[in-house]
Amino acid sequence: MNMNPIPIFKIFGIQVNLDFSWFIIFFLITFTLAEGFFPHFYPDYPSIVYWIVGSISAVLLFVSVLLHELSHSVTAIHFGIPVKSINLFIFGGVAMIEEEAPSPKIEFLIAAAGPLCSFLLGFIFFIMAYFYPTDDLLNGIINYLMYVNLALGFFNLVPAFPLDGGRIFRAILWTKKDLLTATKISSFTGTLFAYLLMFLGILSIFKGNFINGLWYGLIGLFLRQASKTSYEQTKFSVILSGYKVENFMQTVKPLLPDETVAEFMNFYYPFYRSSLYPVIGRDGRIYVLYVEDIKEIPQEKWNVIHVIDVAKPLIAYVSPYDSLYKALKIMNKYKLDEIPVIYGNTILGILKRSSIELLLERFLEEEKK
Ligand SMILES: [Zn+2]
Repeated sequence: MNMNPIPIFKIFGIQVNLDFSWFIIFFLITFTLAEGFFPHFYPDYPSIVYWIVGSISAVLLFVSVLLHELSHSVTAIHFGIPVKSINLFIFGGVAMIEEEAPSPKIEFLIAAAGPLCSFLLGFIFFIMAYFYPTDDLLNGIINYLMYVNLALGFFNLVPAFPLDGGRIFRAILWTKKDLLTATKISSFTGTLFAYLLMFLGILSIFKGNFINGLWYGLIGLFLRQASKTSYEQTKFSVILSGYKVENFMQTVKPLLPDETVAEFMNFYYPFYRSSLYPVIGRDGRIYVLYVEDIKEIPQEKWNVIHVIDVAKPLIAYVSPYDSLYKALKIMNKYKLDEIPVIYGNTILGILKRSSIELLLERFLEEEKK
């Protein structure tokens, strides 16, 4: 499903989003609770009551997952790593932590914060159940939440990257080896665990438990994909962090404000072939000329219009000393394929996405050999 998630609220500057697939899990959990768990352990209530209590429990489970993700996020923010959003979807939640942790210790703490929160919640509900040992539905909700939070804590501690346990495992390996090797090993255990889940899924289906089997299988498939993608991401970020923009940019001759569009199209564009070009403004500031904007001007006017009249204020640029990884993130953020390279107030060049992709391709070829 590729529908945009629904923004629900913002907390600590983090946008919390609900994916459409979340409604499926919400319904499934409510259904299981209302038709199975509650009537079985707490009989003799009307069906509607089970459905109400079931949906309240499902919402509280959602709050538990959210608190787990918030714990990761708040820890990341504490260490200066930005967190854009938390997305809740069919298999739980994901905190969109923007960068790799700078050290194994920070990685460890960010990863451990989630399961720690779940265990703490489980413990709180355990205490509540202890002091409220009746057998009514409120006790049922408390017991259910104790169980799911503990389960959430344990499941996430499996050393299968990118699950929290896998991140903790990676952080420990990272203290002894480099990040890439640590990620490779923990992704491998992630993939193994994913296959184990799929195997359990098939086993369950053969035993006649179709729904459980399907569920294991789907989580296995999801985890296998996630461990592969996370490994690739880490690999790319490690490679690109090792290179500076200055060695990959195309140096350019700055465009002066009073040059005409025709001059640009005849003498600059054929040579640089970039969709944008930095221009020095009459005020000394830097502006950006977009080829797209020029194409809207009738060609017979190109001789009389100055580039500065078409140029727009500079919104994004990179420094020659930025890493390619940082540059790529800025380009992705502003949806650019080319970006001006500027140092202080001096135009130095243009960095193209294609140069970065070429570098990555070269690495992939090397890897195959
Ligand atoms: Zn987690």
